[in-house]
Amino acid sequence: MALRLPTGSEANGLTCVLAVANQKGGVGKTTTSINLAAAIALKKKKTLLIDLDPQSNATIAFFSADEIKATVYDVFSEQHAEMAKIICPTKDPNLFVAPARLALARLEQQLAGQFDAPFKLKDALAPVLKDFEYIVLDTPPALGILTVNALVASTHLLVPIQAAYFAIEGTDDLLETYGRIRSRPNPDLKVLGVVITLFDKRTNISRDTHEQIRATFGNALFKTRISKNVRLEESPAYKETVFSYAPKSSGAEEYKKLAQEVIQRVEEDRVARHSQDAA
Ligand code: ADP
Ligand code: MG
Repeated sequence: MALRLPTGSEANGLTCVLAVANQKGGVGKTTTSINLAAAIALKKKKTLLIDLDPQSNATIAFFSADEIKATVYDVFSEQHAEMAKIICPTKDPNLFVAPARLALARLEQQLAGQFDAPFKLKDALAPVLKDFEYIVLDTPPALGILTVNALVASTHLLVPIQAAYFAIEGTDDLLETYGRIRSRPNPDLKVLGVVITLFDKRTNISRDTHEQIRATFGNALFKTRISKNVRLEESPAYKETVFSYAPKSSGAEEYKKLAQEVIQRVEEDRVARHSQDAA
């Protein structure tokens, strides 16, 4: 008998919560979070993008300041706002965004010493998991409390690496944090993959780093590379994803392909976990 896997709102305990993380800034985390979430939503999968960066770049790419009432800060802070109450719809009926604001930067201090500090996001997400098939977490360029919360709440980790010299160096710290979180609070966390961003096939730097990243990460490396594409840079300024702003651009094509690979890996992983549970 064929395995029947739950989909959409039926998904229960099978929601993919995907942390997009790399503590280096400017490597394409936010661009990847936005456009990967949008590409998954275009495949009619209900998707939530959560902005966990105080810089709020993912939020600003969708909303103007007056459109935002509550943010993830209110979920983390003493207000304990419900996640469901801060989620905003977008132009795509399958894509939703939980916005951030600068106040998030204060959390590190505010949560210091609270024993459940790393679990705030996981707890807040529990009631909305059933509503989404994919939840994408955009994280700040640091391995602080927000990224730790993301890794504790996630089922999978996706690491964007810029095709540039020294791109791999910082990933040691990220993978060490990943290892620590896997060893205790979240043993089910898996690396879904590594994606090369800001690739420029004309340069030796890009080609060299591609080889180095492939040698380091092997099969974890996604086949799809995200090239440098000015449309990806422009679209947030118009509050558009690359799919509505420049649907024929290389950026749109590549993020669509990456979404296909992501969905395939997640589905393969679901089957593997399901048969493990059944055994
Ligand atoms: P991070 O979130 O890791 O700091 P961003 O996604 O904000 O990185 O990207 C850093 C800068 O590079 C932004 O200005 C963004 O628009 C630009 N950028 C990201 N990916 C690409 C790309 N593939 N092509 C061109 N510009 C890009
Ligand atoms: Mg960012």
